Amino acid sequence: MTFATLGLIEPLLRALETLGYQTPTPVQAQAIPAVLAGRDLMAAAQTGTGKTAGFAVPLLQLLAMEGPKVTANSVRALILVPTRELAEQVHESVRQYAENLPLSTYAVYGGVSINPQMMKLRKGVDLLVATPGRLLDLFRQNALKFNQLQTLVLDEADRMLDLGFSEELSNIYRVLPKKRQTLLFSATFSDEIRLLAGQMLNDPLSIEVSPRNVAANTVKQWVVTVDKKRKPELFVHLMRKGKWKQVLVFAKTRNGVDALVEKLQGMGVNADGIHGDKPQATRQRALDRFKASETQILVATDVAARGLDIEDLPLVVNFDLPIVAEDYIHRIGRTGRAGATGEAISLVCADEVNLLSAIETLTRQTLKRHDEPDFVPEHRVPETDASGQVVKKPKKPKKPKTSGGKRNLGKWVESGEVAEAPAVKPVRKVPVFNTGPRKRKP
Ligand code: AMP
Repeated sequence: MTFATLGLIEPLLRALETLGYQTPTPVQAQAIPAVLAGRDLMAAAQTGTGKTAGFAVPLLQLLAMEGPKVTANSVRALILVPTRELAEQVHESVRQYAENLPLSTYAVYGGVSINPQMMKLRKGVDLLVATPGRLLDLFRQNALKFNQLQTLVLDEADRMLDLGFSEELSNIYRVLPKKRQTLLFSATFSDEIRLLAGQMLNDPLSIEVSPRNVAANTVKQWVVTVDKKRKPELFVHLMRKGKWKQVLVFAKTRNGVDALVEKLQGMGVNADGIHGDKPQATRQRALDRFKASETQILVATDVAARGLDIEDLPLVVNFDLPIVAEDYIHRIGRTGRAGATGEAISLVCADEVNLLSAIETLTRQTLKRHDEPDFVPEHRVPETDASGQVVKKPKKPKKPKTSGGKRNLGKWVESGEVAEAPAVKPVRKVPVFNTGPRKRKP
């Protein structure tokens, strides 16, 4: 199958050829003809599957071939995304696909001044990429009208809901023309997403593309167990031992990002961080430098890194495990793309055992463990497996009354010992809070 057989016009074919896209990916093969035919779409596909071209390319074709010229402050197609970085990334892809077409495109998002965006919208824009909050601000300030809107795309819809944009989405939905084409892309389909789809879509075509990395096993995944306080030290040790060149590191909190970056920079390592507290321009610069391989290590929170496409990234490190298991798939989806092999290493401490178990259940695999000599944790991480079972630490055996025999100094399940009943079964999609063993006071 080629892009030409999907019915794309020559200017788009040329743009795709320039980008080196030879064959449509599965999501593109299904989405492109459906969007061209005017269908609504409900697609389960995540970053790395080629979904952006799947919706943007046919959308550009419809805009180029049909409909009126855009008028002042109007938009003809709107792509909603959850984060600023994603807005930039999607817009950059759109710009490349539209290279040979006489269409105007633009991206708006918060965290930067609204005035230049208002100025830019005055003439109207054929295709606008936006985050929900800033879009509503612009609408309320009369900088935007939706009377010409013919297509709405919700990209990473699950993430928009996770980030609390459901009210914004309802408000946007209310002011859009009822007659329009709607395309919804989401990595997961919870009841909430299905409800949203039910409200917004009209007889949609359903497309499902399995998460490439998990299904195709192109990412070598393993876990190193370690005591929480020794994670930074272990990270540096692994970095030196593995001679890591370009690594995307995920930390749970903004403070965690800053602390690790500070430590690495203090050691002369070329590291930078991105999270929601940083100004947009700083975040974008950090990202651009990392993409250009000018920065060796980029530490990020899930929100800041969601959906980012970084070509040929060899390694992802989970400095902390994600609170929501699905984020693990999104994180490791940054590596092992386009058939390349990648590696994902998770540094896991005893507190995170339930998070680990939730990930193994979701991905239906038991992650291979590796003990790094010198870093074997004092607080051992209980065994877990894909069934969602956590083997709890057995009660400390009572002191033997008789002298002689070998004493058990609090080791984990030894042969012949009976493991306790499984811990709480992790629940998908719901944040899993730490219920693992607590650190004892020294
Ligand atoms: P996406 O899932 O849209 O974020 O795309 C992931 C990556 O795959 C991006 O770097 C795209 O440029 C690339 N890509 C998308 N479609 C194709 C294709 N048909 N052939 C080669 N690369 C592609």
